[in-house]
Formats: sequence, structure tokens, C-alpha cells
Amino acid sequence: MRTIGLIGGMSWESTQTYYRLINQGVKAQLGGLHSARLVLYSVDFAEIEALQRRGDWAATAQILGAAARSLEAAGADFLMLCTNTMHKVAPQIEQAATIPLLHIADATARELHRQGVSRVGLLGTRFTMEQAFYRERLEAQGIQTLIPDDAQRERVHDIIFEELCCGEIRADSKAAYLEIVASLAGQRAQGVILGCTEIGLLIQDDDTEVPLFDTTEIHAEQAVAAALASD
Ligand code: GLU
Repeated sequence: MRTIGLIGGMSWESTQTYYRLINQGVKAQLGGLHSARLVLYSVDFAEIEALQRRGDWAATAQILGAAARSLEAAGADFLMLCTNTMHKVAPQIEQAATIPLLHIADATARELHRQGVSRVGLLGTRFTMEQAFYRERLEAQGIQTLIPDDAQRERVHDIIFEELCCGEIRADSKAAYLEIVASLAGQRAQGVILGCTEIGLLIQDDDTEVPLFDTTEIHAEQAVAAALASD
């Protein structure tokens, strides 16, 4: 089994989901007392979030690049960044280490292809919904993304930082998200990407007829496959 290197803590609310899903995935395949070999480097999210707000992505790349090097030195065979947003600095993280990064947008594109989906709504932080790093990566793989309107994007973003990353799950926020999911489906989206690793804490498949693609689940599932692959 390969050792997975997780760069987490963004936020720790979703990192615990990764830890559970990866271990459940390994146990489902190997049974018994098997669990995942992994190393976790968990950052102080307040520091990262302040840098995001200031637009100081170079400083975030320094912190996450150092985390990647530490994980490699600790024996990780490949890296995962447990947040969609911070894939903005994925190229710098890849440069900082010699082991590969399992990119969350690539993992998601693979799952969408597997399910024959090419036009999807995208929910995430403002950075993920509005900037090129994520949408263009999907587009390059034949996935067209639709994003909510400006007021909806603000609501989606604020709920992530003010509630979900603080472990707060509210019924009114869930209703707001489901309304936005429905409006994206109304624009002929075949499904909606939960492109922020905390959104799955708020809405799940049972809440809507619209197919949801939870990036945390997809990323964790592909990590298990990579860790257990025989080649
Ligand atoms: N976990 C979130 C994401 O997947 C947001 C936190 C962050 O800004 O990294 O984008």
C-alpha cells in the first residue's frame, strides 16, 4: 500500500471527512483491521484565509510547498491538497516536491467522464467559482461549468467561511444552497459539482433530484485507488 500525504486543515472540518472516507475505502477493499497509510500536515487555516483575502497567493504557496516537502520527507508517496481553492497554487506545490499531486479537479473530471456528464454547475468559494485555475482545468478536459449569479455566489462563499468551516450547519443555509442547485439545473446543468470540501457537510444526494458531485468523496475515493493500485 502506498502512503498518502494529506495537506489539510483547510478547514479541519473537511479534513476529518477525508480521514474517515480514506480509511473506510481501504477497509472496504482490504477488510479486517486494514486502514490507510497516511501522513497529515494540518495548517492553521486562519493564517491561510487571511492571505487569501489579501490576495497573497505567493505566501500561501510557500506555506503549502513547505508542507508538501515535509510530507515527502515523512515518507508520503503522493500528495493531496484537501481543499479546492488552494489548488490555485497547485503548480507551486508540485514544484516544491518530487512526488505527484492527485489534483482534485482532475479527479472530478475523471468521475464526470465516467458518468457521461459534460455540463455542470459549480459551487465553491468565490475564488474557485470565479477564477480561471479551476474552471479552465475542467474545460481543458471537456467539462463546461456554469456558476451562480453574483448575489448567489456571495451567499455560497459566505456560508462556507462563516458557517461550514466553523462547523456550523444551518437549515436556512441548506435551503439557500438547494435553491441555487435547482437554479443551475434549470440552466440545463446535468449535475452540480460541490467544489468546496465542506459543502458535503450541508447538502447531500438525498436532498435533491439533481446529481451532486462531491469533490471530497471523489478525491478520497481516487486516493484509495491510487494507494492500493498494484503497478
Ligand atoms: N475547503 C474549501 C475548498 O475546498 C474552502 C477553504 C479554503 O479556502 O481552502 O475550497
